[in-house]
Amino acid sequence: MCPVESMPRVSSRYDGLGVGFAPYLQPPGPEVVRWTVGEPGFDTPKEIIDAAIGGLEDGNTKYTRGPGSIELCEAVAEYLEQHHRIIASAEDIVVTPGAKQALLYSFMITTMPGDEAILLAPSWASYEPMLEFIGAVPVHVPVNMENFHPDLDGIRNAITERTRMILINSPCNPTGAVFTPEEMSEIVQIAVDNDLWIVSDEIYARMVWVDWPHVSPATLPGGRERTIVINGWSKSWAMTGMRVGFLTGPTEAVRAAKKSQANSASHIPTFLMEAARVALSCEESVEKFNREYLKRREIMQKGLSSIPGIRVPEPEGAFYVFADISGTGMSDIEFADGALEAGVQLIPASLITGGDGFVRISYAADEDAILEGLSRIRAWLLDE
Ligand code: PLP
Repeated sequence: MCPVESMPRVSSRYDGLGVGFAPYLQPPGPEVVRWTVGEPGFDTPKEIIDAAIGGLEDGNTKYTRGPGSIELCEAVAEYLEQHHRIIASAEDIVVTPGAKQALLYSFMITTMPGDEAILLAPSWASYEPMLEFIGAVPVHVPVNMENFHPDLDGIRNAITERTRMILINSPCNPTGAVFTPEEMSEIVQIAVDNDLWIVSDEIYARMVWVDWPHVSPATLPGGRERTIVINGWSKSWAMTGMRVGFLTGPTEAVRAAKKSQANSASHIPTFLMEAARVALSCEESVEKFNREYLKRREIMQKGLSSIPGIRVPEPEGAFYVFADISGTGMSDIEFADGALEAGVQLIPASLITGGDGFVRISYAADEDAILEGLSRIRAWLLDE
């Protein structure tokens, strides 16, 4: 490696750029129970693996259509209509290397350097650094910390002449909140009134555990022409490492997304296109995973709620519990460090804006890890 003094300077774009939860996501020793990773604790369904291997064996290893094969884009469009009532044609779909890349394109499409984007805090750890990366300015509007639902007046009050976009993530990582259809309508109305874009990260849209449905702002009056919908295969199909996501939105936005992809990633791996298409018909697996998550959620929610000092607002969707640990008298960092010593890895939420006094716990881990973690936390806090 070159001596540091002889190196040119890395651009200032990276100065102070955050890395979210990364310090607490380091794999600990095997004796530690991990409640940290936002990754399904299931194997990728076999049909999907077989399609990926088949894709390689069929020689699908060359450059191809940038937004994804037309068959894949058609399947995505059908899926969106069937499951989320979102109307899009195959030409309106851009399949990207993970939802993360689709988010980056959507931020580039909706903001210029210096423009403001509204985040509902606490929000997923990557949004803020990703916006800062391209010179946009994240403006955090705290949610109601009793139930993590949006503060609509707070959003209205945060809008300035530099605001260009509101980012919504429902079901939410880290809080699990699922915004009600009425809240979604209000947010769309605010965007319409102020001529703002909405970027709607719907990656957990199939994981809703409450009585009201996930409603995409793209399906609401005034929403379609200003919403870029982000989604992907990582969560509901247990395909995190395959790096496949997608976006859809109004024609001009999609055209810009295609340009973004053509000038950066080109496309997802060609042999994964058929695997992603096959995944969209693996309904049984999605439903089986969901039944498991529901069971795990209940065990985690009950187990944590029974510990004095821990408040667990209802985890409405996704696979996270966002627990208020302020009643233990510890800061969230002290709590997370103490838990790690007790053999449980979890995330102190003060690492992200608006998360002070809370910890994020993923119940995507298997049931044994949940039960073992609960007994370790009880032993630590209650001397059991
Ligand atoms: N959006 C949210 C809210 C997430 O929690 C995640 C992953 O943790 C992503 C996007 C990224 O998904 P992908 O793996 O498709 O890049």
